[in-house]
Amino acid sequence: MTLDQVQPRIYRISSILGLRRFAQWLVVGDERLLLVDSGVAGTIEEHVLPALAEIGRTPGDITDVVVSHADVDHYGGNAALRRAVPGPRICAHELDRPLIESWAAISRERYGWYRGYGLDYDEATWAWLENAAGPDTALDGTVAAGEAIDLGGISVEVLHLPGHSPGHLGVLHRDSGTAIVIDAVLERGLYTTDDEIISPPPYSSVPAYRQTVERLRALRPERLGTSHYAPVEGRSAVDTFLDASASFVDDLDACLRAELGPEPKPLEAYWRAADAGVGPFREMRVELARSVGAHLELAVDEGLAVRGECGGLPVWSAI
Ligand SMILES: [Zn+2]
Repeated sequence: MTLDQVQPRIYRISSILGLRRFAQWLVVGDERLLLVDSGVAGTIEEHVLPALAEIGRTPGDITDVVVSHADVDHYGGNAALRRAVPGPRICAHELDRPLIESWAAISRERYGWYRGYGLDYDEATWAWLENAAGPDTALDGTVAAGEAIDLGGISVEVLHLPGHSPGHLGVLHRDSGTAIVIDAVLERGLYTTDDEIISPPPYSSVPAYRQTVERLRALRPERLGTSHYAPVEGRSAVDTFLDASASFVDDLDACLRAELGPEPKPLEAYWRAADAGVGPFREMRVELARSVGAHLELAVDEGLAVRGECGGLPVWSAI
């Protein structure tokens, strides 16, 4: 674990998860202490509590936890947090909350989404996801866009940044221009610690994801606080990161439009073409199919494609 003070009162807790970078964020006020994300099962004990000790704080000082979104590597520490800390208020956006609270719900709706299209994670990935999610843990409530969290000496604002997930949240500290965005924008994919792209950027809505990129541009932050990337520090690094996030969406859209023809094809066919066109990706490859599905849905909404069914699976063709 490495603890970096990114700005006065704002800290990044960095570690490695598999082949990737991994981080949770702390905002330390005089009266309250906010943790953004609880990581996977084990992150609280191995990284967050030692980080607190390093700044001379105790687990009991955590008063607020914002879970950025429904993915196991962002909420899997919730059960441990409940055990270690007497009374923090753990919150998420109302759209992601049901999935964060229930492995049955997230394994059906988020991670099991692919099954409706004839695709799936392999068994080892399923086992990893379930373990990383930790035991089901009820949240204390929800937080909404625009809500201010006054921690005493520092105040942050909650951002709703949908696209990667419908209820993805971020935290903005306006005074320092620090936007803690976690997975709300994902560049051209996720990288290894050696800066090699290995997995795709999944999003469930193209318009929402595009709007989130533009929303962040308009805020003109000085830095982005992510979970899986090297520090994005300074206006020009922020612009480069957001440009790459937007260009990935444009490239995938162009790739799929070229692939749409008169012959109806299942998601798998578009996914393979997309992996060749904007990848290839080595890890979590199936997650590209989520973004591909979102682009096909957009093509239908825009009157460019039609969705049908063949052999029990959805298929798409050009109109
Ligand atoms: Zn995520």
